[in-house]
Order: sequence, then C-alpha cells, then structure tokens
Amino acid sequence: MRELNEKPAPLTIRNGDTVKVMTGRSKGKTGKVLSVNPAKRTVTVEHASIIKKHTRPNPSKNIKGGILEKEGPIHVSNVLLVCPGCGKHTRAGHTTLPDGTKVRTCRRCNTTFEN
Ligand SMILES: [Zn+2]
Repeated sequence: MRELNEKPAPLTIRNGDTVKVMTGRSKGKTGKVLSVNPAKRTVTVEHASIIKKHTRPNPSKNIKGGILEKEGPIHVSNVLLVCPGCGKHTRAGHTTLPDGTKVRTCRRCNTTFEN
C-alpha cells in the first residue's frame, strides 16, 4: 500500500531530453522525450513503445481508416537520461547553484543539463 502523504520525487526528465529506454519492448532505444506526464510519471519517447491504434474511416471528418502508429507512455523508472556531456545514460542529480537556481547535473561527469 502507498502512503497517502507520500510525496513523489520530482521528475528529472523534461520535454526535449534524450533518454534511453532500459526495459520493455523498446529496450535499448534512444530517443527524444516528446511529452511528460508528471501525474502518471510517464513519458513518451520518440520512436519508442509504438502503439498501433486502429481507426475507423470517418469521411465527414476526413479521417481515413487504418492503423495509426503513435508513441505510447513509458514509466519514468524504465528510462534513463542520456547525458549530453559524456553521452552515457545517467541518473540526474539536482544541484542548487549559488544564486539559488536548481539545475540538473550528470552524476558521472557533472555536466549541467540545459533548462
Ligand atoms: Zn555526463
């Protein structure tokens, strides 16, 4: 059982980051983060975890029937950030700069991530 007052750790993955998928069908794939869902703690990663959606044709909306391929959500615990500095997958640490801004840094090489 989960504690109700349990505060989830802040997500270290943001839109536009490059991540590597560590488990599941898309294991080993590296791609750009397309979207982040902090509530569900999931991300969608470019070209990873493709789900096929079957759509019915709807001529009035100009929708052709068929199979639509789309990135599916992957839980954040199944992906790791790829560091732009050392090129390796890493867990990001949070560092507070002397001026008070919080940045994410690579725990391997201390490169600061943008944004
Ligand atoms: Zn690094």
